[in-house]
Amino acid sequence: MKKVKNLIVGCGLSGIVLAERLAEDKNESVLIVDKRAHVGGNIYDYKDKNGITIHQYGPHVFHTNNKEVWDYLSRFTGWHNFMYRVKAVLDGREVNIPFNLDSLHKVFPPKLAEKLENKLIEKFGFNVKVPILELRKSQDSDLEFLAQYVYEKVFLGYTVKQWGVKPEDLDASVSGRVPVYVSRDDRYFQDKYQAIPEDGYTKMVERIINHPNIEVRLNTEFSQIKDEIEYERLIYSGPIDEYFDYKFGELPYRSLDLQFREYNKPYYQSGPQINYPENYDFTRSVEYKYYLDENSEKTVVSFEYPEAFVQGKNERYYPIPDSANQELYNKYLNEAEKNPNIYFVGRLGDYKYYNMDQTVARALELYKKIK
Ligand SMILES: Cc1cc2nc3c(=O)[nH]c(=O)nc-3n(C[C@H](O)[C@H](O)[C@H](O)COP(=O)(O)OP(=O)(O)OC[C@H]3O[C@@H](n4cnc5c(N)ncnc54)[C@H](O)[C@@H]3O)c2cc1C
Repeated sequence: MKKVKNLIVGCGLSGIVLAERLAEDKNESVLIVDKRAHVGGNIYDYKDKNGITIHQYGPHVFHTNNKEVWDYLSRFTGWHNFMYRVKAVLDGREVNIPFNLDSLHKVFPPKLAEKLENKLIEKFGFNVKVPILELRKSQDSDLEFLAQYVYEKVFLGYTVKQWGVKPEDLDASVSGRVPVYVSRDDRYFQDKYQAIPEDGYTKMVERIINHPNIEVRLNTEFSQIKDEIEYERLIYSGPIDEYFDYKFGELPYRSLDLQFREYNKPYYQSGPQINYPENYDFTRSVEYKYYLDENSEKTVVSFEYPEAFVQGKNERYYPIPDSANQELYNKYLNEAEKNPNIYFVGRLGDYKYYNMDQTVARALELYKKIK
């Protein structure tokens, strides 16, 4: 029987960061298994035949204010500085998202746009994000009109498609958080660090796990090898409900049918991401060559059709955050806490949506706890 100090299930960002820390900082042996045929989990990317870097599981843009996370990853990659700009088609026009002062002028006649702009700046100041809930509370009919416009045009259609919910079931506290950005800043994120690994995510991942104490086995399900390996510590970044054989029931997820299309022209759309809250069944189209500023006569675009996660059909993408699911997850967490040598982590182990920086931060924090 093979002996290893740490068995890590999942070669995604959670698994590899823990593997690297245990191997390098604690000088312990690590075996990572992943059922997929490649490393990196959902951040896996590859260069296609046209030299365009494709994100197989949907577009990934790194952004963070967490310097520890930024410095940690910077040991394994150089960065292509990249500020994400997203547009949405509202009433047939491409406008900045988050909806900002320039968006106002794109969708409204000049006098109305100017009036709204002046009222927003006067009431809230400049360079601030104002949730539409605040606009609604303002008792100003113009600002209430703006709140309703943004709710209907930016939030409602997109959310109904993304989460497969009925408009009447939407939680007012969530929709109320949709912001109007009283600013001319047209970036999607305002984080201090925003970039894409200059050689792609997969190369960064390969460097993180390139360590004499780390062995990786791909195409390997945990259930296939668990009786063949003797380990002291198990770190599990797969689905927590699956580990416990779904004994309390299945945790639901949203998934995506990602359709990639190649076009025989240099560019397909005006920027990397266009959202379609009102039109079509897909939520957004993403053109990959923009990310690393790659040159090609052709271009590749993905279209995202949200759908429910179904085992064997598609991938688990987004945990669905509601109180019933949280309660179900807590039952699994109680089970997990009975065994001190098993650690659940990551998007599937914690049943929590994490951006990449949060994933790394969570893994580093768990490492400190283990240490
Ligand atoms: C569509 C989409 C877009 C995103 N865009 C961004 C973005 O722009 N910016 C950002 O910061 N974040 C983004 N994210 C979040 C990012 O993908 C996650 O933070 C990160 O991938 C989580 O890593 P993880 O290791 O926890 O999970 P995963 O990457 O899912 O890794 C888990 C791994 O475990 C393996 N596994 C599971 N069960 C088993 C088993 N039983 N046996 C063996 N192996 C198993 C899986 O095959 C998988 O490789 C996005 C996520 C999605 C879904």
